[in-house]
Amino acid sequence: MFGRDFQRKYALTDQGVKNTKTATFWTVIVNLIVMGGMGILYMMMTKYMDTLTAGTSLSGAGLFLILVLVFVILSLITHLQQYRATYGLVYGEVKSVRISLAERMRKLPLGYFGKRDLADLTETIMGDVNRLEHVWSHCLGYLYGSYISTAVIAIMLFSFDWRLALACLWGVPVAFILLFGSRKINKRHSEITKEAGIQVSDGIQETLENIREIRATNQEKKFLKELNDKIDHHEKTMLSGELSCGIFVNAASVIMRLGVATTILTGTKLILSGQVDFMVLFMFLLVITRVYAPFDQALALIAEMLMSQIAASRLMEIHDTKTAEGADSFNPKGHDIVFDNVGFAYDDEQVLRQVSFTAKEGEVTALVGPSGSGKSTCARLAARLWDVPEGTIRVGGVDINSVDPEVLLSDYSMVFQDVVLFDDTVMENIRLGKHGATDDEVKAAAKAANCDEFVEKLPQGYDTPIGENGAKLSGGERQRISIARALLKNAPIVLLDEATASLDVENETKVQEALSRLLAGKTVLVIAHRMRTVEAADKIVVLADGKVAEEGSPSELLGKENGIFKRMAQLQSESAGWSIA
Ligand code: ADP
Repeated sequence: MFGRDFQRKYALTDQGVKNTKTATFWTVIVNLIVMGGMGILYMMMTKYMDTLTAGTSLSGAGLFLILVLVFVILSLITHLQQYRATYGLVYGEVKSVRISLAERMRKLPLGYFGKRDLADLTETIMGDVNRLEHVWSHCLGYLYGSYISTAVIAIMLFSFDWRLALACLWGVPVAFILLFGSRKINKRHSEITKEAGIQVSDGIQETLENIREIRATNQEKKFLKELNDKIDHHEKTMLSGELSCGIFVNAASVIMRLGVATTILTGTKLILSGQVDFMVLFMFLLVITRVYAPFDQALALIAEMLMSQIAASRLMEIHDTKTAEGADSFNPKGHDIVFDNVGFAYDDEQVLRQVSFTAKEGEVTALVGPSGSGKSTCARLAARLWDVPEGTIRVGGVDINSVDPEVLLSDYSMVFQDVVLFDDTVMENIRLGKHGATDDEVKAAAKAANCDEFVEKLPQGYDTPIGENGAKLSGGERQRISIARALLKNAPIVLLDEATASLDVENETKVQEALSRLLAGKTVLVIAHRMRTVEAADKIVVLADGKVAEEGSPSELLGKENGIFKRMAQLQSESAGWSIA
């Protein structure tokens, strides 16, 4: 009952399965003790009826009092245990599931985050786990405990009087068959509702993230309408889901309760024919309400159980995705980066084909080529942000696919176009480059990255909060902060994506100065957009259609008749824009 399938179905940890077993155990005990209470009541009533009919005085009241007292005490203790086992233990489970999810995500290849976006993953960590939490605490122990205790009670009832037991319990299997039969329909509804819910969160997130662009382009109405449509659609799917589930659940509940009517009918018939005593019917009627009660609770939560299974499968999908693993140590001989016949595709479309080149330590290697030729992809692969499926990439002779990405990345600094800044102070944003760096180290790096003069103008200097994702800073300032981070880290390999579009001339010079300090003596792989950078590079690799089209020093390539690079350089100088991207 509590095997691997059960564990996966409800996304439980090993401890979670143990907790469910404990909750089930206590539910069985609680249900049986409640039945014991019914037994005491039955015995008291029988005794009382005997006294009434025989006209004798009531005896044994003391014994009954003791029995009732024992029942009350046992009932209290077992209910308390059940409460602890169901609600108490579950909160620990929620925490460990969230932490293990986050741990898992840390190790997933970046490609995975393209398949499931941020709203979707947030929904899993928060919404799905919440939903599961409710099921773990409110449903599993109760439901499975009720299965077992009902089976025990059914055996007892059948041994007491099989005809009444049948009249009383026939509805339970019929109700469950109906529910299991409708599971496919209800699951489909739940899936549609879930998808519609994610669309709504996606829509809200997209609107908030792009609020500036939306306003600047007067698109508010269009975006609001789209969002409204998504919310309406979600509401409709929820309503139809609830309706479909409600019909089946209520039908099941009614069928189960028909047992009361059939018990009364059968009981009356048996009493009239003198086959059973009135008190037996009385006992069955008492028991029947207790048999239905836990199932009623489970029925009310059946929609949630179905939802939770979808939530669990979304959660398990994260757990089942292969993580990027590797050795904990990385001891390369030097830091030359060697691409050896590398091939790569994001989805089906081949982006890189047999790419081979070497970026030497102490040199600047510039990747050049038209937009979409695979420059950024090469840079990402060099840092194992994606795994290389064909060919190998070696750093100092070590295949990077064999090294744990976290260990590997400690040797890399990345200065990319989309600088990620946190809603914290300038100081803390730079300190991210090196865990535990002192304030003086941070300031020295900031100075070398030319951050000094703009930080001094901020109201609280280095302690100024910079807003969500650095909203209060200009493009050039953001970039200099990310360079300061990289300087602080001082890693032997620098991957650099030059972005000039947003920079004015003064900023550009400042960024250039900062960069030249960062790059000295490192293995530098730069996605070059500026002619100046390209000309100053030690080596140029020209990519076209995912292949290396040309390779060599700037002077070699400029001297090549009909060379691609030469043509690009000519075009650029004619347009005077000096922008190659
Ligand atoms: P470049 O940096 O030279 O402009 P990229 O390496 O960014 O080129 O992109 C190469 C190709 O891969 C393009 O066709 C682009 O659309 C595609 N691509 C880039 N990133 C992704 C991604 N995350 N998922 C799917 N396709 C991508």
